[in-house]
Amino acid sequence: MTARAPFQLAALPALSRSTAQRDEGPRKDPDQLDRLWKSGQVLFVDRHGRTPVSADGSALAPRPAAAVADERPAEALLLGAEGETGYWVVPRTEDLTPIDAPPGTWGLWAGAVSASGEQWHDLRAIGALLDDTAAGLFTTAVGLLNWHARARFCAKCGSPVAVSAAGWSTTCTGCGREEYPRTDPATICLVHDGGDQVLLARQPIWPARRYSVLAGFVETGESLEACVAREVAEEVGVQVTDIRYLGSQPWPFPRSIMIGFAALADPTAPIVPADGEIEQARWFPRAEIRAALANGGETDDLILPGETSIARQMVAGWAD
Ligand SMILES: [Zn+2]
Repeated sequence: MTARAPFQLAALPALSRSTAQRDEGPRKDPDQLDRLWKSGQVLFVDRHGRTPVSADGSALAPRPAAAVADERPAEALLLGAEGETGYWVVPRTEDLTPIDAPPGTWGLWAGAVSASGEQWHDLRAIGALLDDTAAGLFTTAVGLLNWHARARFCAKCGSPVAVSAAGWSTTCTGCGREEYPRTDPATICLVHDGGDQVLLARQPIWPARRYSVLAGFVETGESLEACVAREVAEEVGVQVTDIRYLGSQPWPFPRSIMIGFAALADPTAPIVPADGEIEQARWFPRAEIRAALANGGETDDLILPGETSIARQMVAGWAD
């Protein structure tokens, strides 16, 4: 029998895709910014992270910037550019009516409809449906807006900050300190036995049957590998070895990046779920995971992580 090759992510995670250029050059050049506005496209995003989408829900519905405003508005943030086309986000308050969630969205659904009949959806719901350009732009838009919404005052002197560099920094109005968009690293790890079993766990707040891989935030002074070992031990009481990097995905809810790993554990070791954090954890055979994947991500006993998450690509890569 030949050994299996080490598994990889089944596909590039949905929110890791991107095509727009992130040139620093135009961000501090008002003339370039004005040009990129006049030929630009604008995403409206509301405070729940929703944006207008096309009628079939598989594409964003950006506005031509020139139709939004003749001159570049102060609240417009530059997401990136392709050639002479600038991509922008403008925060928007819109009177929306919630739409009932379709089956399988597990309370993560935030879909709504405007008075004109246009549907607005959030990144978790539609991220996996979008093309590469749109996925990257919407991910960046949500991340930037979430950062600005939580970073309105200087962390050093407490004065209000002003947006600078077309959204890519803030400058303190009191002491002049500059700050840049923050990202909090979190590790996420698929623990397997080196054979045909994977360890999945569920949080008490999740819908019944939903299981996923283990994840947690990196602490100050901690390496990614140490974080993986600590989180797995804390959450399910299992020691892991052979920690191996798989890939990463920005997760701007509100400002994380998920850094994916695989690791090995002994399936005969006792599982000790962390009180209050993990309701249940158990080993699943590969055949059960494959059955769920072949059935849109669920069986009568199991709901896998959603298609927008890196967890789904980790599980699918392992099961393949
Ligand atoms: Zn300050």
